[in-house]
Order: sequence, then C-alpha cells, then structure tokens
Amino acid sequence: MAVATAEDFLSETDRQRVSAAIRAAEMRTSGEIRVHLEDHIEDDVLDHAAFVFEELDMHKTKDRNGVLIYVSVGDRKVAVVGDKGINDRVPANFWNDVLAVLKVHFAASRPGDGLCEAVAMVGEKLVAFHPHQRDDTDELSNDVSIGTR
Ligand code: CA
Ligand code: CA
Repeated sequence: MAVATAEDFLSETDRQRVSAAIRAAEMRTSGEIRVHLEDHIEDDVLDHAAFVFEELDMHKTKDRNGVLIYVSVGDRKVAVVGDKGINDRVPANFWNDVLAVLKVHFAASRPGDGLCEAVAMVGEKLVAFHPHQRDDTDELSNDVSIGTR
C-alpha cells in the first residue's frame, strides 16, 4: 500500500468541508484556527508543530489566540498547538480529547470527518476564553495548508 501524502490525504470536497468548519467556528470565537498537513517528520510532533506555528505567522494574531491542528500524514502524528492567549490559561492536557477524536477518525479512514469534528471542538473550547468580537476580522486563512517538507 502506498504511503499517504499530505497532498492526497483529503479530497477536494473534504478540504472545502474543513475550510467551512473553520469559518463556522470562527463565527463564534475571535480565535483563529488553521489546519496544516505535511508528509512525514522525524522530530517530535509537538516540537515540530510549534515550529510550524511560527512559520505560518500564527503568533501574530491580535489576541494571541491562534490554534494550529497539525498532521504529519505519513506517520499519522497529530498535534494541537495554541498560542499564549490560550495555553497560559488551560491545563497541559487541554487538547487531548481533540487528538483522540482525530486518531479515531484517521484510523477509520475518515480524515475529513476527523478534521471537521476537531475544528468544531477547538472552536467550542475557544468560545469560553475568546468569544467573537464585533470588530473581529479573519486574521489567518481558513484554507487547509500543505507543507512541502
Ligand atoms: Ca478572527
Ligand atoms: Ca481564519
């Protein structure tokens, strides 16, 4: 069986569904959610996702409330990284249920469902700390991004 690549991990329909889920979540919170896919990594997934977070300029939001859902497709490694405005206020295991949901869906070959559900869960968690503001703008792209590592 061919190893899955980031490029073919999601169908075009799934990519649009995930974007729509991000847009919907961001109607309720000022937090900014991104989904980023890569083929394969050697490093620790959380360290690497933190690196990608900065690479994508996600630390530049007004309220420091960006959240990255990172997937290394080839090795099914996932991480959720929140910026200071969130991580300073929540326990270390705050994202564990999101990771668990992603893993269940990925194992069942439902990556689109998994990412949509994960985005919705992250959105729900953000609402409590960062409700949507009247002057809120879309600070970070809602499109799924693909890395070329
Ligand atoms: Ca926003
Ligand atoms: Ca956005």
